Amino acid sequence: MRFTILLSLLVSSAAAQTGPSFSIGNMDPTANPCVDFYQYACGGWMAKNPIPADESVWGQFNELAERNRMILRNILEKYSPNDPNRSAVEQKIGDFYQSCMDEQTIDQLGIQPIQSELDRIAAIAAKSALLPELVRLHLTGVDAFFSFSSTPDMKDSMHMIADLDQGGLGLPDRDYYLKTDAKSVQLREQYLAHVQKMLELAGSPAGQAASDAQAVMRIETSLAKASLDRVSRRDPQKVYHKLTVQELAALSPEIDWTKYFQGLSTPSIASLNVDVPDFFRDLSMLLAATNLDDIKTYLRWHLIHSDAAFLSTPFVNENFHFFRQILAGVKEIQPRWKRCVAATDGDLGFALGQKYVEETFGAEGKARTLKMVQEIEKALGTDIRTLSWMTPATKQQALLKLRAVENKIGYPDHWRDYSTVRIARGDALGNDERATEFEVHRQLNKIGMQVDRSEWLMTPPTVNAYYNPQENNINFPAGILQPPFYDNRMDAPVNYGGIGSVIGHELTHGFDDEGRQFDPQGNLRDWWTAQDAKEFEKRAECFINEYSKFTAVDDVHINGKLTLGENTADNGGVRLAFMALMDSLKGKPRQKIDGFTPEQRFFLNWGQIWCQNVRPETARLRAQVDTHSPGNNRVNGVVQNMPEFQKAFACYVGQPMVAAPACRVW
Ligand SMILES: [Zn+2]
Repeated sequence: MRFTILLSLLVSSAAAQTGPSFSIGNMDPTANPCVDFYQYACGGWMAKNPIPADESVWGQFNELAERNRMILRNILEKYSPNDPNRSAVEQKIGDFYQSCMDEQTIDQLGIQPIQSELDRIAAIAAKSALLPELVRLHLTGVDAFFSFSSTPDMKDSMHMIADLDQGGLGLPDRDYYLKTDAKSVQLREQYLAHVQKMLELAGSPAGQAASDAQAVMRIETSLAKASLDRVSRRDPQKVYHKLTVQELAALSPEIDWTKYFQGLSTPSIASLNVDVPDFFRDLSMLLAATNLDDIKTYLRWHLIHSDAAFLSTPFVNENFHFFRQILAGVKEIQPRWKRCVAATDGDLGFALGQKYVEETFGAEGKARTLKMVQEIEKALGTDIRTLSWMTPATKQQALLKLRAVENKIGYPDHWRDYSTVRIARGDALGNDERATEFEVHRQLNKIGMQVDRSEWLMTPPTVNAYYNPQENNINFPAGILQPPFYDNRMDAPVNYGGIGSVIGHELTHGFDDEGRQFDPQGNLRDWWTAQDAKEFEKRAECFINEYSKFTAVDDVHINGKLTLGENTADNGGVRLAFMALMDSLKGKPRQKIDGFTPEQRFFLNWGQIWCQNVRPETARLRAQVDTHSPGNNRVNGVVQNMPEFQKAFACYVGQPMVAAPACRVW
């Protein structure tokens, strides 16, 4: 598996007329900053910005994403007409978008784009004939039973190896199948009804579809039981198991692995990482014990499920009904253009991103970001050197790792070549399948090769950032290097509180409970003395306790272990950005703006980048699957640990924004 540590769960967005920015008007001046700083920084914004009907969450992130989306829409509309003068890149993104937008053709086709695949599944006469179909489905992105790709070898970070991981669920997490509370039981009933409805839309009689849905549920529940939970999966040691193909065959004999790899035309594979060996042992037993008809039903369901967005309106609407309405609480489906912009970004993101960068991001943006990155790296160096709890031996190793961090800003040096992907007008699903197949082969062809660290895992318009522990690099797409994160019109404290904290966050990921297990070269190797590791864990425990007390919705608490890495990164990131700001203000006149000191404005923008409103259903969903805490907890969880904040707002011991004990790792 590939570990990447994002700034935020990626979310979609709705209409905003003007771009977001830092503003005193976003605040709630009636709130007390020492009692609830998030309310103080964001109360005005929250009152003025209800969640649009087609969204699950609405925040400053979304407002910016919306602006980027409008730019992408303009690009795509410009290249949609069938103009022979378009470049190859323009033809691909334009025709992909045009086909996706052509609802009339899609509706006329109905189930037809997947009918031949459904027929193939129906014609399977023996279990021995399942394998070629599984290969076909995996090539087009249907993740039936498990997933297979390539990844840097965790213990040989310069080389790529094949990677086999658990998968095959329809619901967002294994816990959805296993929890016994009333809400979870109800969701499973609603999921059964959804599977039944989708099978009916694909032509099954109601009675048959109902019993088929039960078969799907039985198989997915078995897969869920065999799956490793999310908290355990954050520990790289628990998902690193290098096996030879013979060992895999012995563990999981029901699948002919050699034939499977041959079917996918992979380079030769002698050994591979099997993230969760128990899963593949149980999968093999499940396949042996399940009758052929049920397995065929399961494949059929996953094919329909996976392709629903590119099928006719009844499939699209039923898919929306369960996954967005029931699971996330969204009221209305997004307009088609938003879904098609997202689909183009998903399938041809580095072609669309190339046009986006040409239109929006200049050398100046790259230079100013790099300058701040360097200041914050300097602050982390100072921080490491002055830590009270770490011995000199481990400090020296940490500084080596810091020096080796590579900074990637804006967009890739080389654009991905999609020239072999055929994009045809009027073939929305075929375009998606061919783009997916291209990507599957691109990933598999890396097996045995050197890792290409210049590659990006996020497309340029993305409003997000990430640290990659296996490559020891931090990555900031062009999409996030804008207001309210970075704003030319604003004073330095506001920008350090925004993009500065984001940079600090990603950098700290290299040293959180997960990242600290990787060395400067990105290898999973322990560079800590036993005593320092113990001291680290003691401090991390403080964060687990602090955030576990926060409530997401009703009686659902934040999972302090699931969110530990992100909370550590938030706390470290804000501290580093604050240190860098103080350094930059040295010797300069200190002035209040809008009545606020530089320190206050720094913390106010740290608060405001997380202003958001969240639907209760989404809050419940995220508490289970998201490694990030909700915006209000991210803001208050950090400031209550910081004496610098308490001094800036004159908070005193006993007030909620003064934690006792204050947690701190970095
Ligand atoms: Zn993060």
